[in-house]
Amino acid sequence: MAEIRIENLRKEFADFVAVKDSSFVVNDGEFLALLGPSGCGKTTTLRMIAGLELPTSGKIYLDGEDVTFNRASARDIAFVFQLFALYPHMNVRKNIGFPLLSQGMPRAEIRERVEETARLLQIGHILDRSVSGLAGGDRQRVALGRAIVRRPKCFLMDEPLGTLDAEFREVMVHELRELHNRVHATTVYVTHDQHEAMAMADKIAVMNHGVIEQFGTPQEIYRKPASMYVADFIGSPPMNFLRFTSGLRRGASAVSLNGVDVIVPEIHQDVAVGELALGVRPEHIRFSDASPLRGAVYGSEYLGTNQVVAIETGSGLIKARVPANRNFHIGETVGLEFTPANLALFDCKSGRAVA
Ligand code: ATP
Repeated sequence: MAEIRIENLRKEFADFVAVKDSSFVVNDGEFLALLGPSGCGKTTTLRMIAGLELPTSGKIYLDGEDVTFNRASARDIAFVFQLFALYPHMNVRKNIGFPLLSQGMPRAEIRERVEETARLLQIGHILDRSVSGLAGGDRQRVALGRAIVRRPKCFLMDEPLGTLDAEFREVMVHELRELHNRVHATTVYVTHDQHEAMAMADKIAVMNHGVIEQFGTPQEIYRKPASMYVADFIGSPPMNFLRFTSGLRRGASAVSLNGVDVIVPEIHQDVAVGELALGVRPEHIRFSDASPLRGAVYGSEYLGTNQVVAIETGSGLIKARVPANRNFHIGETVGLEFTPANLALFDCKSGRAVA
């Protein structure tokens, strides 16, 4: 078990900065997801923690020990790439035991460890089967077994489910989380998929162009996005932005949208002047005939129990996720209601939250 701490970690490739002075702590036993679009620096961060890439500056500590310049093999870390790579000519038992065999561990001990790992993954009954005949789920479990059998201090995983189809991915997300609940190994998991991050992680670091935009629990990131970038990256559909121009003071409790006062969370900076955006999640919008805040239905998308309705508000087009039991007509006028505690407020220029 281990705590991972990175301090002001930076990676430059020639004159391109891939990771810009990142700092965070992954507590012992915690599951951190590094989340962001392609090219934002997730893999580079992971490779530096693994010792596969040397930082340009900054420090990496494992359990308080400075390992910044230690070789990968001296870090007691398991790096898991996509989970399909198995040795096809070996059976399940040999596949899982292989890393221990390479370490020179006595056979009796390997046998014990492999069986314990198989129990953890509930694949004890297939230990003597050939891996070439296994179904996808069992193959993934064997690959996971091979990673955890060494009992490394921590796991680093780079899009391990990347090649799987959607349905199977969902099963594996659940299994990985279950496994983490049983093993409690410190894990850093790279993904561009917000659903994977939300479903599995204790903490999420949302990355943008080499910068960690926000570090927090999935709940904090969903409820209190630190920036418009984070708000836009999380949720489906993502958070809506209703733009308006204003000068708001600390403690202000309402903003004026198209002449209608909307109660907002308290502003936490002295003044917020210029173009601001009220952030509201699609699932937090209610329709109310009595509301003075009006919009015109622009279109709708049926999703079974829910529907997503697009509404032109005069402050921007927004999407509401509402029950599917009402039909809307294009052009129909609707009243919109928000619960103040669910709203966010951003400064459009900096993109940062001001409330
Ligand atoms: P992806 O999911 O596509 O791998 P990522 O968020 O993991 O994205 P990185 O692989 O960390 O991103 O790459 C960050 C940036 O650094 C990218 O623009 C990439 O082109 C660049 N980069 C990564 N490795 C190198 C390298 N060895 N030399 C030059 N540029 C690199």
